[in-house]
Amino acid sequence: AKKAVLGPLVGAVDQGTSSTRFLVFNSKTAELLSHHQVEIKQEFPREGWVEQDPKEILMSVYECIEKTCEKLEQLNIDISNIKAIGVSNQRETTVVWDKITGEPLYNAVVWLDLRTQSTVENLSKRIPGNNFLKSKTGLPLSTYFSAVKVRWLLDNVKEVQRAVEEDRALFGTIDSWLIWCLTGGTNGGVHCTDVTNASRTMLFNIHSLEWDKELCEFFEIPMKILPNVRSSSEIYGLMKAGALEGVPISGCLGDQSAALVGQMCFRDGQAKNTYGTGCFLLCNTGRKCVFSEHGLLTTVAYKLGRDKPVYYALEGSVAIAGAVIRWLRDNLGIINSSDEIEKLAKEVGTSYGCYFVPAFSGLYAPYWEPSARGIICGLTQFTNKCHIAFAALEAVCFQTREILDAMNRDCGIPLSHLQVDGGMTNNKILMQLQADILYIPVVKPSMPETTALGAAMAAGAAEGVGVWSLEPEDLSAVTVERFEPQINAEESEIRFSTWKKAVMKSMGWVT
Ligand code: ADP
Repeated sequence: AKKAVLGPLVGAVDQGTSSTRFLVFNSKTAELLSHHQVEIKQEFPREGWVEQDPKEILMSVYECIEKTCEKLEQLNIDISNIKAIGVSNQRETTVVWDKITGEPLYNAVVWLDLRTQSTVENLSKRIPGNNFLKSKTGLPLSTYFSAVKVRWLLDNVKEVQRAVEEDRALFGTIDSWLIWCLTGGTNGGVHCTDVTNASRTMLFNIHSLEWDKELCEFFEIPMKILPNVRSSSEIYGLMKAGALEGVPISGCLGDQSAALVGQMCFRDGQAKNTYGTGCFLLCNTGRKCVFSEHGLLTTVAYKLGRDKPVYYALEGSVAIAGAVIRWLRDNLGIINSSDEIEKLAKEVGTSYGCYFVPAFSGLYAPYWEPSARGIICGLTQFTNKCHIAFAALEAVCFQTREILDAMNRDCGIPLSHLQVDGGMTNNKILMQLQADILYIPVVKPSMPETTALGAAMAAGAAEGVGVWSLEPEDLSAVTVERFEPQINAEESEIRFSTWKKAVMKSMGWVT
């Protein structure tokens, strides 16, 4: 017999850099009922290049949906209770595909990829005025954002050039690629994105909330390949196949925006930090765009409905956080799985003067220094792999400290605690170190899947779905785990200033 209906359910695709997940929540209680996760391959065809296979990403989404539905059936939960699906995704990662064949014209160029460095240098020589890009987009010119990746594809991949000339090319970030495929692909797929993802392309005007003609001209990108920009919460289309055929896709948010929503940071000044492949601290600045004086980005936080207002955020982006743990696993082989890092670090409980600056992709906020490369310094005969493991964890905390300091300077009111989430927050040593290095409490929700939760909330609240209420009084109180600072502020300051010395040494490696 089927279990008593729990109330409407909402699914969420969480397509991250390291893995894809599908999760199903109860819309009344926000309880996570079931999920499935598949790791995604990353290809490094040349130094600095990072690619993923868009077809593998799509298949991983289908696999996660099917497996989660099977698990729900085993729990005697009827999958016909799933009323909506939200999509949250790694941002900036760029796909160009052929709308006639449905095939990608090149691998996905991942946000971390550095191949566009010379593209960036060339573009920077002809920026029309100092503030041209930042005032429209909130972003600095960098290898990070989609426009330069599209420019590179147009300059270097014949198939892409030809498809654009023949009007067959579509561009999208991962959300667009997935939604187009899931809603039918060559058979009527919807080519759209949401305002949060659009705000990371560098082609989108964050004030008018439209593609910007002058930006497209600057990057020489034809506007006809761009997706339609929609709000983060509305019905985009219906699932065309699979176990959830016919269910509306009605939520779409870049992963960091989704986490901000999932952490219920709806008020001005509320912030969260997500520790995944990279590390992203976002602070809600309400309905106004705040421009940073300290290397932070201005970005669209969310717009939860066609007629709802847009909210903005200040963002501190760190390129390498969990990726350094993956590197210790895959490249150095000192651990077999990411969670083993905790055991190694615990054995020593200190880096013993060793500092690890993982500037694998240059440095993002607050430096925006493409010439930086990774260094491990302060080594002695005594240093062993445990110290390096500890230094890697400490690096994540120091980088967060740098963006938090920038955030406090830009906002004026220092954060009294830090709300955290993401794959790395399972690591208790990391969380304690973070509290010690920030000297404020670190607060982690007991349901850590906030990115998926945010996407599910957006999907469930959409007009025409209406199964999730976003009224503050309806948002159930979140239970949390707290980490209080344990070392004294002076000790933490000394460690932090040595870290900064190491950062200076990491710069200027590439000229
Ligand atoms: P993303 O959203 O970028 O795909 P996740 O939030 O899924 O990332 O987190 C995965 C990252 O966290 C990986 O880079 C992995 O190495 C790291 N990670 C996972 N578990 C741990 C752990 N216990 N300690 C440290 N790092 C971890």
